[in-house]
Amino acid sequence: MKCPICRHGETRPGAVTVPLERDGMTIVFREVPALVCENCGEAFHEETVTAALLKQAEQAAAAGVEIDVRRFAVAA
Ligand SMILES: [Zn+2]
Repeated sequence: MKCPICRHGETRPGAVTVPLERDGMTIVFREVPALVCENCGEAFHEETVTAALLKQAEQAAAAGVEIDVRRFAVAA
């Protein structure tokens, strides 16, 4: 699709690193599937991916994680 941010690039399937911060916790998800703009580098996630990211961040926060780097897995 055409990138809605820069309106020039085309997005391509790829994987990105997504850092999330909340309540003093920092968690970094690696290899998150995304559509990445070849022009500006903006990454777009499907709703299911975003929902899984937020859910896993909440689970980590509930487990007392303060900082973590993990590989993203949708089925976790
Ligand atoms: Zn773009």
